[in-house]
Amino acid sequence: MAGIYIHIPFCKKACHYCNFHFSTTFNLKNELIDSLVSEIELRKSYFASEKIETIYFGGGTPSILELADLEKIVNAIYKNFQVAEKIELTLEANPDDLQKEKIIAFAKMGVNRLSIGIQSFFDEDLLFMNRTHNGSEAVNCIHNALESGIDNLSVDLIFGYPLLSDEKWSHNVNTVLEMNIPHLSCYAMTIEPHTAFSSFIQNKKMAPMDADQSAKQYEYLMNRLNENGYEHYEISNYAKPGKRAQHNSSYWKGISYLGIGPSAHSYNGSCRQWNIANNANYIQGIQNKNPLIELEVLTAEQIINESIMIGLRTIEGYNYETVLNQFTEAQKVAFENTKHQYLSQKLIRESNQIITLTQQGKLLADHIAADFFLV
Ligand code: SF4
Repeated sequence: MAGIYIHIPFCKKACHYCNFHFSTTFNLKNELIDSLVSEIELRKSYFASEKIETIYFGGGTPSILELADLEKIVNAIYKNFQVAEKIELTLEANPDDLQKEKIIAFAKMGVNRLSIGIQSFFDEDLLFMNRTHNGSEAVNCIHNALESGIDNLSVDLIFGYPLLSDEKWSHNVNTVLEMNIPHLSCYAMTIEPHTAFSSFIQNKKMAPMDADQSAKQYEYLMNRLNENGYEHYEISNYAKPGKRAQHNSSYWKGISYLGIGPSAHSYNGSCRQWNIANNANYIQGIQNKNPLIELEVLTAEQIINESIMIGLRTIEGYNYETVLNQFTEAQKVAFENTKHQYLSQKLIRESNQIITLTQQGKLLADHIAADFFLV
């Protein structure tokens, strides 16, 4: 099993919190689409014999693609890779792009899952974030998708920002519950460097995020979704039974994936690669048949640390049984000490050498994982 990620590096506007790679000018769009197709051809030997079972268009904003562009890219994948008969084909989409006719055309081209960047149903919050859509588009696009026959939907929501009162957060969560959306990705607002929010905070034009508010809203979310039959299968992801994201789950299971497009990452179990995050240079590299890719071969220790981080973030937890024999004596003692500390604080639980985070532990996931890392 393997997956392909395609990065579409264009957005209509820059959201104030976003530090992904994207451009708001579209003048290189046609060359970039051609380069994506060429990169697919150039890297057709990336997988030995695995079949592609998931394709994921992320960004940026893949829903701005014209149908002919999408078709070119999908055809190139089918031409150059072995693709399983039944695949998950996800397209990240913004609400203002999701008119019924467009969704129907996406579906005809094989898209069978939409991941929609709703973030909030309130106009003032969407303006504050500099999103392109408004609250009514957020609601309408979900109806449009359901009426157009794509019911495998995921919705993104953000919590923990100054404008979001607990009442508004409960409205956002309950709106997606009422619409019976099968999959949710919910993130605490974080302030990334080189974003508009980071400079607003530096210049005292905006209050910093409040960690207590964020923790309270995260707990509310976990409780509401649990009551409504969602599995909290990854720290930021919730699914109705059978509706987990197959592509994203591959990342968390260490399954190989190939990333196509500027800034896209690839992983094959021992080596990470990432494409240059610059549209013009990316295009030039591909046109010269010399894709600008950096790579890092992971050490045994890095592989273990990565599996600790990923394992603790998932419902399956971190199974340390199989790696204990790779630990030095000092590392075993440090690991045991960390484990006992967090067990006594009830931030983790353990069963059959599998460690999982408790609900309280999930609030401190990255910190706990870092404490387990081998040094
Ligand atoms: S639409 Fe998505 S990728 Fe584009 S700026 Fe906004 S959050 Fe970032």
